[in-house]
Amino acid sequence: MDDCLFCKIGNKKIPSKLVYEDADVFAFEDISPQAPSHVLICPRKHLVSLTEATAEDAPMLGKLQLVAAKLAVERKLTAGYRTVLNNGRGAGQSVFHLHLHLLGGRDFRWPPG
Ligand code: 5GP
Ligand code: ZN
Repeated sequence: MDDCLFCKIGNKKIPSKLVYEDADVFAFEDISPQAPSHVLICPRKHLVSLTEATAEDAPMLGKLQLVAAKLAVERKLTAGYRTVLNNGRGAGQSVFHLHLHLLGGRDFRWPPG
C-alpha cells in the first residue's frame, strides 16, 4: 500500500526505531509511548484490521504474539506485559494497518479504558 504509514515504516521509506524484523513481520518503538516499553508489531502484509484476516493469516497472527513474547523476555518485562490489538475506530484504532501493541514496564488496570 503506497499511502500506508506502517507499510512505509516496514519498507524503511519512513524512519523508525526498528527493534525486530524478519520476512513476515517487523516491530518498532511507538512514537508516543503509553508505557516505559511500547512496541508495535506489524505484518509486512497490508491488512487493515483483524476483520480482514482470513485462515491463511493464522500463522502470521500467531507470530505477532510470539514476537511480542520474545521482545518481552529481551526487555525483562518480568512483572507482566500486555499485548493489545485495537480493531476499528471505536476500539481506538488510528492507523489502519493491523498492528499488535506490546506494552510493559508499568502496572496496568483491568478493565482497560
Ligand atoms: P492504534 O491507535 O491504531 O492502535 O495505534 C497506532 C499507534 O501508532 C499509536 O500508538 C501511535 O502512537 C503510533 N504511531 C502513529 N504514527 C506513528 C509514527 O509515525 N511512528 C511511530 N513509530 N509510531 C506511530
Ligand atoms: Zn500498510
